[in-house]
Amino acid sequence: MAEEGVASAPRGRVLVVGAGQMGGGIAQTAAQAGYEVDVVDVDRGRLDAGLGAVERSLERLVARGELSAEEAKAARGRLHPTLDLGAAAATAAVAVEAVSERYDLKAEIFRTLGEAAPPAAILASNTSSISITRLGAASGRPAQVVGVHFMNPVPRMRLVELVRGMATSDEVFRAADAFARALGKVPIAVRDFPGFVSNRVLMPMINEAVACLAEGVADAEAIDGVMTLGMNHPMGPLRLADLIGLDTCLAILEVLYAELGDPRYRPTPLLRKYVEAGYLGRKSGRGFYDYGGGGA
Ligand code: NAD
Repeated sequence: MAEEGVASAPRGRVLVVGAGQMGGGIAQTAAQAGYEVDVVDVDRGRLDAGLGAVERSLERLVARGELSAEEAKAARGRLHPTLDLGAAAATAAVAVEAVSERYDLKAEIFRTLGEAAPPAAILASNTSSISITRLGAASGRPAQVVGVHFMNPVPRMRLVELVRGMATSDEVFRAADAFARALGKVPIAVRDFPGFVSNRVLMPMINEAVACLAEGVADAEAIDGVMTLGMNHPMGPLRLADLIGLDTCLAILEVLYAELGDPRYRPTPLLRKYVEAGYLGRKSGRGFYDYGGGGA
């Protein structure tokens, strides 16, 4: 858990950069918690797709009786899509970067946040594996930068891995902890190391499952069946990889392999082939399983 010292949750606007599966989920969760949320992506089409997914998620919650229609309407009204990152950053109390898992994209976002966000703003990244310390350096304000690593799907999953960069201030770390709790999450503090705990442990398992598939040990259903029935995992590794996104899994393994230098993290070539084919998992309609989308 985060260290001693109680901080109150930040007040003010939340900015979510990236309206993909994670950004959408983070924006939805923050809006449900009562925050006004600006959501930024690269173009109108991506914003519409991201907010469309949030809308369907809110409808599901209402249908299941987990949220009232009024609460869903109020949450919807707190979501503000925009293409102007600089303007949204200028009014953010908390910014959560959730763009694709590439250092160059994230560094550029953090440069902009560093320039435009108010001095006390928390500058958080939802990265799965990239160094928070390095993103902090890119921002020019490393004391303000912290890893706030949500799990997928965000509205359902309770864990937030809270990552302290080398220069993250205690105050910012405690405020990020309070922010995660205000969103109904359970933060667990970890140090800034490639893949943190979650993906350093998870990705080698997924990679090995892909290797089993590539070597013909068993088909995808059988590999997942062994892990669900035999290990009591709620979802097999290949289905989980499809949920995460195969491009994201590959990007995380590449960071682990490059930064830890250990061959056990080397991405299985079949994983790369799927990504090259545009079979990215659920988000593209096809990965190790077919979701009726046909691919890229
Ligand atoms: P995604 O592909 O669903 O969405 C990424 C979004 O970022 C896209 O909408 C894209 O248009 C947008 N984007 C790219 N460049 C941008 C820019 N310069 N400005 C604004 N938006 C930009 O990916 P995702 O699964 O939501 O992953 C996002 C981040 O969350 C990654 O860092 C990933 O590692 C991390 N993460 C993913 C999972 C998961 O299970 N998928 C879990 C935890 C953390």
